[in-house]
Amino acid sequence: MKKGILMITLSVLLILIFILVVSINNPRPKMESNSDLKVVIDAGHGGKDNGATGASGKYEKKFTLSLSKKIEEKLKQDPEIEVFMTRTEDNFISQESRYRPKYANKLNADLFLSIHGNTFSSPEVAGTETFYYHKDSRRFAKMIQKHVVEATGFNDRGTTKKDLFVVKDTEMPAVLLEVGYLTNPKEESEMWTDDFQSRVATSIVEGIKEYKEKAEKRGIFNWLF
Ligand SMILES: [Zn+2]
Repeated sequence: MKKGILMITLSVLLILIFILVVSINNPRPKMESNSDLKVVIDAGHGGKDNGATGASGKYEKKFTLSLSKKIEEKLKQDPEIEVFMTRTEDNFISQESRYRPKYANKLNADLFLSIHGNTFSSPEVAGTETFYYHKDSRRFAKMIQKHVVEATGFNDRGTTKKDLFVVKDTEMPAVLLEVGYLTNPKEESEMWTDDFQSRVATSIVEGIKEYKEKAEKRGIFNWLF
């Protein structure tokens, strides 16, 4: 009997030590419920980096900037969200500089979202896909994917862990969204319309808000598990 109590006490103590160690060693910033949510929107490519060339010959860098500005505009309407952009013009940001993740880390941002349009050699390939790297970004990726697929109506390619520096070097939940395939003529023609971009921007804002609400409810469990 005494042995049993000792084992339980020891187990509880070990769990408490584990929680303490995890909380001390966890370098990734946590969402604070009472402060504004800092969101970084990263328009992919720019300047001499055109990104993908779509079926019509138009460049991905223009699509990402146009959609990112719409997301920025919609996020700004929420007084509890602060939005930051890695670029607002057609300027080049080198991959070597690691500027995009560094910018978000320096801001101590809560969420990072990189906007892209996909490309493939075969024009038949189509669909919406979200990439993440760290485990604590998976939930955010699933949330964004769920909302954006609803808005695009494209094939749901799901969420995938991928070694991409923008989602790997960022110290907060970070995702890279491939809205659709610019090399698929049908998807591309939709992706360039104002109506489509507005719909997708709204869905991203909804995804961010739902993620925020759920993360606040989960509290400590959000980053422990
Ligand atoms: Zn891209």
